[in-house]
Amino acid sequence: MTPVLYRGRIAPSPTGYLHLGHAKTFWKAFDRCREAQGTLIYRDEDIDLQRCKQEYSQAAMADLEQLGIHWQEGPYYQSERVDNYRSSMIKLIRSKSVYPCRYSRKTIEEHPDAKKTPTGEVIFPKSLRPRQSEMMDFFEESLNWRFRVPNQEKVQFKDLNQGHQSFECDQEFGDFLVWRKDGMPAYELAVVVDDAAMKISEVVRGADLLLSTARQILLYEALAETAPEFYHVNLVCDSEGHRLAKRNDSLALKTLFAEGHDFQSIAAMWNPS
Ligand code: GLU
Repeated sequence: MTPVLYRGRIAPSPTGYLHLGHAKTFWKAFDRCREAQGTLIYRDEDIDLQRCKQEYSQAAMADLEQLGIHWQEGPYYQSERVDNYRSSMIKLIRSKSVYPCRYSRKTIEEHPDAKKTPTGEVIFPKSLRPRQSEMMDFFEESLNWRFRVPNQEKVQFKDLNQGHQSFECDQEFGDFLVWRKDGMPAYELAVVVDDAAMKISEVVRGADLLLSTARQILLYEALAETAPEFYHVNLVCDSEGHRLAKRNDSLALKTLFAEGHDFQSIAAMWNPS
């Protein structure tokens, strides 16, 4: 049997400085790839035009290198790969898997059929979907587009760290955005198109993205691509039990390095004995 070549990736979004939680996740991605003697790819997920800054891109690479993480391919920049996402949109439009959505966030949130998940996320009401006969068959980039979640009950997968996962469609998530009217793909689409194109065999990322994985599995199916394996890393929380945010400056890697911490002492913080 031909051994499967391990291809991993680290994919930060340059919307702020990396913190301890990112260090843990990206170290895990690096370590698993190294153990498998695989190829690690660096992908800068800079598609959010409002929030991404070059300064954060450069800082992320410098911080990860200082931590001892190195990669064999990249950096690739999502902002330079928009043609790939457009081609995938055209495939999704042909298979009637997506539709344009002209409703504002406010209209959706205030719609009487809009349910909320326990985490406060609004589930797009099915009653706002266009009828099949009204579906658009060409790609209009200046509209929001949503993925039509199929009428199946659950998306299930085995996570290599968190075990069996099951998410109920229309209860835990609904039709999600794949394209934004600013002419850029939404995260879910960009990540799937890239992970497939870059032949990623295992995705290592934070456990906050488990639900996203359910959405992404549906996208892999719709694009007739094979989904990679998934390993979701437990999140690092602050002393009050909240997950870290990029605005938590005290645990930003650049602050920790400036205070004299090195890999050993940083790893001891995310992995207290
Ligand atoms: N860019 C995402 C983030 O920084 C991670 C995406 C992924 O690993 O799939 O949160």
